[in-house]
Formats: sequence, C-alpha cells, structure tokens
Amino acid sequence: MAVKKTRRDLQHHEHFMSRCLQLARKGAGYVSPNPMVGSVLVVDNRIVGEGFHQRFGGPHAEVNAIACVDDEALLPRSTLYVNLEPCSHHGKTPPCSDLIIQKKIPRVVVACRDPHKKVAGKGIAKLRKAGVEVIEGILEKEALKLNEAFVKSHVKNMPFVALKLAQTLDGKIATVTGRSKWITGKEARRHVHSLRSCYDAVLTGSATVLADDPRLTVRHTMGRNPLRVVLDRTLQLPHTAKIFNGDAPTLLFTSVGSSDTMKLDLLQKNGVEVVHINEKQNGLDLEEVLSVLHAKGILSVFVEAGSRLSASLLRSMLVDKVYIYIAPKLFGGDGLDSFAPLDVHTPDKAFHFHFEAPFFFGEDILLEAYMQ
Ligand SMILES: [Zn+2]
Repeated sequence: MAVKKTRRDLQHHEHFMSRCLQLARKGAGYVSPNPMVGSVLVVDNRIVGEGFHQRFGGPHAEVNAIACVDDEALLPRSTLYVNLEPCSHHGKTPPCSDLIIQKKIPRVVVACRDPHKKVAGKGIAKLRKAGVEVIEGILEKEALKLNEAFVKSHVKNMPFVALKLAQTLDGKIATVTGRSKWITGKEARRHVHSLRSCYDAVLTGSATVLADDPRLTVRHTMGRNPLRVVLDRTLQLPHTAKIFNGDAPTLLFTSVGSSDTMKLDLLQKNGVEVVHINEKQNGLDLEEVLSVLHAKGILSVFVEAGSRLSASLLRSMLVDKVYIYIAPKLFGGDGLDSFAPLDVHTPDKAFHFHFEAPFFFGEDILLEAYMQ
C-alpha cells in the first residue's frame, strides 16, 4: 500500500530502521539459514524495546524486542520497526504477526518483504487484515543488501557467491615464483577473517591448497568457522593438507570417476565428507557443486581460490559479487594474474560490475563490486 510520506516522516522512520539494521548485523554468522533481523519498538519518538535474531532456532527479533519492553501497557501505543516482514507461519517459533496482533501494536514499519515462500507478503497481509497499519519500503535497498544471501537463496534456489581476491595495483595475486604471502597488510587480512565468519561456506580449489596450504578457518577475529569446501577433481591433495585438519567441518568435491579408495578412506578418517559429482569442460560441474551446497542449507559461499577457479566461476555466471583488496604494490608483467583467461574479445563483452563505496584497511583498499 502506498502511504504518502512527508520528508520528516521518512527521516524519522529511517532513523529507527537504521537501528534495526545495526541490531540485525549482530546476528551475522550465527543465524543462517535464517535471515538477520533487528527490531525496535518506539513510543513518542523514544525506543522502549529492541531485539534481534541471535541464533538459528532462537526467538525472532520482534519477540525479543517485545519481551524487552518493561511496561506492556506501552505496546498499544507503539510502532514496531523491523527490517524484514514479520513471519506468518509456524516454524521453530510461533508467527510474529500473530504476536503483534495479540499485543495490539497498532503500527508496523517494514524495510523489505520476506522472499521465503511461506511468508512472501502473507505476514503483511495478515497484519493489515487485523487492522494494523503497515508502512513498507523504509531503507529497503540497505535491508535487501544485508540479507542478500538469504534473498538469493530463496529467489534463485542457489547460494550467494562472493569471490575474494588480494591483489597488487597491477592485478597480480602472486609473484613470478608463485609467492603470495603477503600482498595485503594485517588489517586487510583480519577483515578477510571477519568476512569469512559471516559466510556459511568457504570454497577453494586444489591448486590453492597445493600452493598455499591454507587452513581457511577464522582465527584473527571472533566468529565461527564456515564449512570448508575443496574442489579436488582427481583427488591429488595429500590427506595431510591443513584444510583436512579437523578444525572445521570440511567437504570435498571430486569427480564421479575418482576411485582412490585409500585416499578416500584417509579423508573420511579425518572427518572429511566426500561428494562425487560430474565433470564439465575439464573441471567439476560448478553449478552442481553449488546445487549440492544449496541442498545442504548453505546460503552463501566465500570463494578464496586461484585465478583459474575464479575465472571458471565467472565464466559460468555463478558469481554475485567480488571483494578485491588492492595493495599499493606492483609485481609487474611476470606476476600471476588475478583471473585466468575469460575469453573477452571486445570491451562490450567484458564482465561488468558496479562498485560500492571503497574502504581502507591500513594502506590497502577494499573494493566491493556487484555483478551487473
Ligand atoms: Zn518471526
């Protein structure tokens, strides 16, 4: 419903919705496959209660915000702000829209609708039917970005895929001798760990494991380890690689043709789950990899790979965004390029992105760019 909003009204709503988004972010890394949601209750321009969805299976943001109001008599005079449409179905908790109606909250301000097919407008419709005024679309763009992985997963039935690269000013990810430690500084590397903790899975290829032997766990910041996913078409990786060290759940994709039972046994003894999938164009079928991850409830994948896997994902049109950390250094033309050939023959066929605002980490720059 289009509600005419004055500029002052809008600023007022945006102010409280920003607080919802700030609260929602506190759930990053803990709520997936649920969305990040924050909620505040406002009476006479004052926040009287606030809450957020803290962990998967726990109470929803609206429930926590309502529970935090000392005087229940305030609720029928309050406005509830929430960055995602209140739910209308019985999941692990009762529907929030029922609670809002039951507590006689007269007005709800929502940033965006819930794409989950069990909700998708039904929560808002239920509230309106019960006489609750609902205002939609406040900071919608920001709210959709916050839950971009949740939204993509429900709309496209595929995980949200982000590529991460650390490169020099001239687009190199390693020197002529293949060395890459370290291109960026400590601050940028710590930021990588915090991003990693916000994704459900971190994906790499066998070339990166052989070259760098990474652990791909979260160490330089607080946060939980994502599922480690390794693509090893021919089972060439040694079972002693650090990525198989048992510090975090690990999943290995290999070809349906891989039958080295001794290697498979060793990996399984290390607690590594092995999934055999089809090959496509001299590599594993990347779309199948992502479909399997989606079926396992993985909403988002953070790719920390070499130039070939990054290029293959791009060529398969499976990338949603890139995080490129750029160090103010040059390795020159004999260094290793960030991307293997992409078969771009004319500029109009380039892979095209749009930038978000850049960030500085020490002397390095982070550019976040979305695929167009
Ligand atoms: Zn809910």
